[in-house]
Amino acid sequence: MSDLGTEQSPLRAAIVGSGPSGFYAAEALLKSKPVVLVDMFERLPSPFGLVRSGVAPDHPKLKEPILVYQRIAESPQFQLLGNVMVGHDISVEELKNFYHAVVFTCGAETDRSLAIPGENLLGSHTATEFVGWYNGHPDYRDQVFDLSHDTAVIIGQGNVAVDVCRILAKTVDELKHTDIAKHALEVLAQSKIRDIHMIGRRGPAQAKFTHSELRELGELADCDPVVDPNDLELGSASREEFADRRNRANMKSYEVMQGFASRPSPTRHRRCHLRFLRSPVELKGEERLERVVLMKNRLEGEPSQQVARATGELEELACGVLFRSIGYRGVAIAGVPFDERGGVFPNQEGRIIDGENVVPGLYVAGWIKRGPTGIIGTNRADSVATVKLLLEDLPNLDAGSKPGADEVRKLLKDRDIRVVSYADWQRIDAAEMQRGETAGKPREKFARVEEMLAMLDASG
Ligand code: NAP
Repeated sequence: MSDLGTEQSPLRAAIVGSGPSGFYAAEALLKSKPVVLVDMFERLPSPFGLVRSGVAPDHPKLKEPILVYQRIAESPQFQLLGNVMVGHDISVEELKNFYHAVVFTCGAETDRSLAIPGENLLGSHTATEFVGWYNGHPDYRDQVFDLSHDTAVIIGQGNVAVDVCRILAKTVDELKHTDIAKHALEVLAQSKIRDIHMIGRRGPAQAKFTHSELRELGELADCDPVVDPNDLELGSASREEFADRRNRANMKSYEVMQGFASRPSPTRHRRCHLRFLRSPVELKGEERLERVVLMKNRLEGEPSQQVARATGELEELACGVLFRSIGYRGVAIAGVPFDERGGVFPNQEGRIIDGENVVPGLYVAGWIKRGPTGIIGTNRADSVATVKLLLEDLPNLDAGSKPGADEVRKLLKDRDIRVVSYADWQRIDAAEMQRGETAGKPREKFARVEEMLAMLDASG
């Protein structure tokens, strides 16, 4: 019988990705009965995934889970190995030699595609690019967003679309005391955008955003929300959806929309238009985006299963910039099976599978397990469920000696990889907060990896 999980032979677990699902997996492992040592790998020098680089800067309360993650990271059984890209700096095969189990919590790093002509025209962007840019994510530091036109279009009606809309709609005064990246605030300050169209392929009863997020669009300093009351007329299937208590959340959003529709004519500098039953079918322009061609849709199907069907009627909307906010998608890592269709790691409730077979020692949690749905807290139960299976598997895991972080560090040193520890990150964190102080911001992020590493080198 193996003694894995005891003081003499602790279970060594690697977690790949330092967002919410990674930290909740770490927490579940550290709280478990077996003795576990957790090493968390993160591609960037900064941890916390989308809580740092996805949550909108003007939503500081949503970043509070970081306080919990900080406590987890301070456990003596936890190590951060930041600035290390699994699949590039160290292979998954190598990780298997260093750890008894590997839990992938690497989220959904890219976007779904619309697959329409002109999608990649200059001026057409993914929401991920824009969100990463205003949040100081190093991958997007050098993105260029031309906001010199009067009309912006956002495709999709989820909470990410609302975030993008709000950041475009807000005044500099509304943003300047948030942790928005300086480079983004400078560009937004020059924005000429007056009209923002947030376009859903289905109707107002099916919009994915939540009512509290939607309501904020009615509370902006210099932007009016605009909804055409005619667009709020519901078909019988949508009315049936609202009669079902399970759709209470959508009903609440609908009530917010009714409030918007009954407002007097807009008077503010900007307008945010909620548009429904339209799908983009082509983006047009000579050198760059000039207009989007929209197909008018009608709804078809049973209540709660209604889909958008093209009517054949087209309309064009002139716009200078467009953001595709139609959901995220996971990215493959060499050495791990990948489900191309779903954009996730194929799994049975968290055990990674290859075809029909479970891959021993490999687990998955969070968006890369179930797809990009749910709020930050949704990931806690998901990670707990995966860790439960991992612990059930403990007797069957390869109990051979696994050296863990110390040996990984040696290997990475030989490869000239500067591993960023949690203590290093705390120094970066403190420096960011200090940089923010003079500007009256909670922090001024370092938006380049080199800047973070240089700061560490300079401060010894
Ligand atoms: P989402 O909620 O899934 O919304 C995606 C939107 O894109 C939907 O309106 C969807 O319409 C539309 N869409 C998908 N494919 C399309 C296509 N081919 N053509 C046109 N439209 C298409 O995704 P998200 O906004 O990226 O958010 C991801 C998760 O993060 C969500 O759970 C969200 O609540 C969460 N989040 C939360 C917050 C917050 O709490 N403040 C902030 C940001 C994100 P259909 O409904 O017709 O598919």
